Amino acid sequence: MEAKITNLLELVNKLPEKQRKLFNRFYSVNLSESKLILPDKMREFVKIRFNSLKKVENQKIISINNNFTGEGSLFNELRSLRPLPKIKINKRELENKKNCLFCNPENFTPSDSFGRIKGKYCITASNIAKYDYFHSLIIFKEHNPLKIRKIWLRDYFETAEKWFLEVKKLDKEAKNNFLIWNCLWRSGASIIHGHMQLTSSKMKYGKVKKLEEISEKYKQKFNSDYFLDLFRVHKSLGLLREINGTKMLFYLTPVKEKEIVIFSKEKGFANLSDLIYKIIKNYFRLGVKSFNLSLYKIENYWIIHLVDRGNLEDKSSDIGGMELYGNSVISFDPFKLSEKFKL
Ligand SMILES: [Zn+2]
Repeated sequence: MEAKITNLLELVNKLPEKQRKLFNRFYSVNLSESKLILPDKMREFVKIRFNSLKKVENQKIISINNNFTGEGSLFNELRSLRPLPKIKINKRELENKKNCLFCNPENFTPSDSFGRIKGKYCITASNIAKYDYFHSLIIFKEHNPLKIRKIWLRDYFETAEKWFLEVKKLDKEAKNNFLIWNCLWRSGASIIHGHMQLTSSKMKYGKVKKLEEISEKYKQKFNSDYFLDLFRVHKSLGLLREINGTKMLFYLTPVKEKEIVIFSKEKGFANLSDLIYKIIKNYFRLGVKSFNLSLYKIENYWIIHLVDRGNLEDKSSDIGGMELYGNSVISFDPFKLSEKFKL
């Protein structure tokens, strides 16, 4: 049986009873075969574009919902073959440092009330238009965000850890740390120059709080740990890698393409920088140019999400009404992603 998302129901049926029951506790799955009729004038185009008339005329769509979190994904690999409107990108734009404020952060970005934290390869700045109580930036010394080195990444994270500590000295109630890295415009970044964003809030963010509540309720109801069981389900299907106790999941309900979720009980998140570096290098090898990374803590777990946001040349957003209010529409198979990843 080929490990692929459209075979999920068969793969689950082959699991030992205990693992199958656990999967079914977590997920609801539906496989549909959707049919359509192609007019004669479209057949030639479809043959070239999608490489098969049959695959288009009989489409397999697999829908997966996490029964606890409400996360849900609709998989159809044909979606990636659709013709999409493109914009012209000058590749040199990524190297264009002219008028880049972040290339000269000490003169052209504000500092926090406690000053700046300087790493070897980065510096902090206060965000000029904040979206939370404490909201600052890690500005990389390297302008081009697609140029990444292992030691640089470790330095960015270590500097972020120092910033979180500095903020706690100002207000110990601002204890909810959140780190994001939006890489290039598809991911929501407004500035090309490589940077991460840090927030420390008094109130937990909605999605973090919800996941915490789910984990607590799960403990009460099943006398088991939500996260450990989530790992077990992914492991039983070959969608989990373990690296020195850190778990890396090729997530069954990705929020968008190629989502990977890391769970780690490492003391500091900077210890995860080598793994994150490897994941990003894999992303680059698979053609990812723009991505989001988010990091936060629940119980003793650092939880890190990484997700591909599409081609830099794509004109339309990868997120529409479905992703905002329904399920996420996904074309990249998590089983294939796991196969292609080299750590
Ligand atoms: Zn720059």
